[in-house]
Amino acid sequence: MQGSFPEVWAELMAAESVVLTTHINPDGDALGSMLALYLALQNQGKKVRMWLDGDLPEMYAFLPARIDISHPPLTVSSADLMVVLDAGDAERTGISFSKFQGKVMNIDHHLSNSGFADVILVDETVAATGILVLRLLEIAEVLITPAIATCLFTAVATDCGFFRYANTDEATFEAAARLVRYGAEPHKISEAIQKMPLTKIVALSRVLASLELFGQGKVAAIMVPDDIPATAVEDTEGFIDYPRNIAGVEVAILFKPAGGPGQVKLSMRSRNLNVSVLAQSFGGGGHARAAGCTLDGTMDEVKNRAIPQVIRAIREAGL
Ligand code: 5GP
Ligand code: MN
Repeated sequence: MQGSFPEVWAELMAAESVVLTTHINPDGDALGSMLALYLALQNQGKKVRMWLDGDLPEMYAFLPARIDISHPPLTVSSADLMVVLDAGDAERTGISFSKFQGKVMNIDHHLSNSGFADVILVDETVAATGILVLRLLEIAEVLITPAIATCLFTAVATDCGFFRYANTDEATFEAAARLVRYGAEPHKISEAIQKMPLTKIVALSRVLASLELFGQGKVAAIMVPDDIPATAVEDTEGFIDYPRNIAGVEVAILFKPAGGPGQVKLSMRSRNLNVSVLAQSFGGGGHARAAGCTLDGTMDEVKNRAIPQVIRAIREAGL
């Protein structure tokens, strides 16, 4: 059921215990939305927990309440309500829902959303899930503290490339303005996100050295080598912006070793092409201009399979 904001809030208030979760390899929108809702529900006196399959990326360590995030238990059965934020399908959470007895709610903005939940608050027209959480809290008339505003500003700003991507619209700026009024400090958030360990810059230089162009320069691919330290493989956020910014490039792809052996994760960014459709055809998903998937095979096998399909999609779209 697609719920209205008041209906969704009523569901949250009716639940005795709530678990919040988000997608694996979480980004700023995933974490910011989850932490903001966590803080707001705690302020309402709710019994609330947060589960994340995997570790919190170091670049988001500045976010309030992040130490309360725990790993999901092996058997997921407790809690009245599970809220899945910023993920369009249940598999993206890494959690098995098969034994979960309670209701599942989904707050999300992915074009590829599968409608898997019992209570759905999905709007693919907003730039970030954080905007939906902001509206929910505003409509519920709960106090938005500076800590909540910091989480939500991080969510909104990171998902629209700090107000530069195609999903940045009037509503995005309006949400940001309200969040500043509630106490978010954009320069501090931007500084915290941009700061990186030296190892990340060293990794970036190696990844950029792998740059290759295909399809008359319309496809740019970079690759994270297998022998790079695990922490560097995890934190490649922002790397794809370099091939994406090359003049004439329609689709940029980052290939990197995925969780399992013999698996490769693809991140795609485009100027015009709907890469969400392409990612879905590979078993993944995402947004029109930012999508991803994980494929089986070696790096070379996956590249040889994916790149011709991307070139074909560009040609078929007349781009
Ligand atoms: P990124 O390339 O930054 O990992 O992800 C870009 C967008 O695609 C995000 O909205 C992300 O949620 C989505 N995405 C990335 N990988 C996958 C995947 O394996 N499956 C699905 N469904 N979505 C993905
Ligand atoms: Mn998002």
